[in-house]
Amino acid sequence: MFWDEKMETLRGKDLEALQLKRLKWTLAQAMKVPFYRGLFREAGIRPADVKAVDDVEKLPFTRKKDLREGYPFGFLAVPRQKVVRIHTTSGTTGKPTVVGYTKRDLAHWADLIARNLTMVGLREGDVFQNAVNYGLFTGGLGFHYGGELMGLTVIPAGTGNTKRQIEMINDFGVDAIHCTPSYAMHIAEVAEEIGATMPTLTTGLFGAEPWSESMRTELERKLDLSAFDSYGLSEMYGPGVAFECPEKDGLHIWHDCYLVEIIDPETGETLGAGERGEMVITPLVKEAMPLVRYRTGDMTMLREDGCACGRGQKISRILGRADDMLVIRGINVFPSQIEHVLLGLPEVGDHFMVYVDRVNYLDELTIEVEMKRETFSGELSDLARIQKRVTAALRDVLGIRTAVKLVEPGLLPRFEGKAKRVVDRRGGLF
Ligand SMILES: [Zn+2]
Repeated sequence: MFWDEKMETLRGKDLEALQLKRLKWTLAQAMKVPFYRGLFREAGIRPADVKAVDDVEKLPFTRKKDLREGYPFGFLAVPRQKVVRIHTTSGTTGKPTVVGYTKRDLAHWADLIARNLTMVGLREGDVFQNAVNYGLFTGGLGFHYGGELMGLTVIPAGTGNTKRQIEMINDFGVDAIHCTPSYAMHIAEVAEEIGATMPTLTTGLFGAEPWSESMRTELERKLDLSAFDSYGLSEMYGPGVAFECPEKDGLHIWHDCYLVEIIDPETGETLGAGERGEMVITPLVKEAMPLVRYRTGDMTMLREDGCACGRGQKISRILGRADDMLVIRGINVFPSQIEHVLLGLPEVGDHFMVYVDRVNYLDELTIEVEMKRETFSGELSDLARIQKRVTAALRDVLGIRTAVKLVEPGLLPRFEGKAKRVVDRRGGLF
C-alpha cells in the first residue's frame, strides 16, 4: 500500500526532471537569504550554473555552525509573519538551531509522515500512541499531524509515566507506538516487572537515535511487535526524511523532497554507492528555510540495489553521527557498534555506559554493562568468564581493547528521551 504511489515509485528521467525543477526552485528560494547570497558569491557560483541534478556537487556546503550563527531568524527565506510554526533543535552545545515552517511546509511534512505510516502497514482507523516529547522537539507534532492526516486515531501520550503508557496501550487497543528505541526498551522492562502484556500492539516506530539490528531483535521479541527504523532531523522538518519499508533492509529516503549525497567527512569529496560517509542533504521543497547541501553529520551509505516494495532510493541504517564517533587510539568507534555487540550476548542486559579517559596520554575505553537478572549469580568465577567473553566480543568488532565492568541489573541510568550513553572525560587540552 502506498500513500502517494506516483511520487514514491517515480524513477529515471521523470524523477530527475522533477528533482532538477525543485532544486532550481530551492536555489531561487535560498538566494532570498543573505547568508546564501554571500556564500555563493564567495564560491564564485550562480544558481544559473546548475543545469543538471549532478551539478549540486559544485555548490558549497551549509554547516550546523552556520545555522547557529544565523540564530534566530537569519535563515528565513520568507517574512517572519509567514512562518506559522517554530521548532528548535535540542542545542546540546551552544545556541539551538531555529527551524521555521510555512503552511506549505507543514503540509509537505505531514504528507511525508503519512507516507511512512502507510508504508509500514498502518491503515485509517488504527490506534497510534505517540510516546515522544511534544513541544519544541519535532518528533511529537511531526508524527501527530502526519498520523491525523492519514486517519489514524492519535494519542498524544508524550513521554514518562511508563505504567500509564502501558495501561493506555491496553485500554485504547493501541496498534502502533512511536518512541525512541531506548524508551521502548524501558517500556518492555516495566511491562515485564508488572507482568503486563500488550496484545494489540503490532507495530513499533523507533527513531531519534541510532539503534542496531540486535536492538531490533530484542525489541521485537520483548514487545512482540514489528520494529521499524525512522530517520529525520529538525533541519529537514523533523522525522519523516527516511523510513524502513516492510523489507527492513535500508531506509527509503524520499527522493522527490530530499536530494542526498554521501561525502568523505574529512575531504568533502563525493562518494559512490556502497561507500560509507557523511550524508549531505539538499531539501527540495522547503519554503521557509531552504538549505543547500546541508551536512547532517550522520554516517551512512547509499544503497544501489532496488527494493522489493517498488519504492526508490535507499540509505543504510545510520551508524552514528560523525561527531558521536569516538576516535580511540586512532580507531573510529561508534556507540551503535558497542550496542550491537552487547545485545548479541545473552549474558548481559540492554543497558550500558561508555566512558572515555586519557591515561598517560593514551585513550582508554571503559564500558559498564548491566548483567541480566537470569544470569546474575554473583559467583566470581561466572563474572570473570562473562567479562572475558564480553571483552573478546568487543575487541573482535571494534578492533581495540576495552575495559569491561559488569554491574548489577538495574544500576545504570534509564533514558526516556535520547539516550546519553557516552561520557568523554578526555577534555580538550591535548
Ligand atoms: Zn522498500
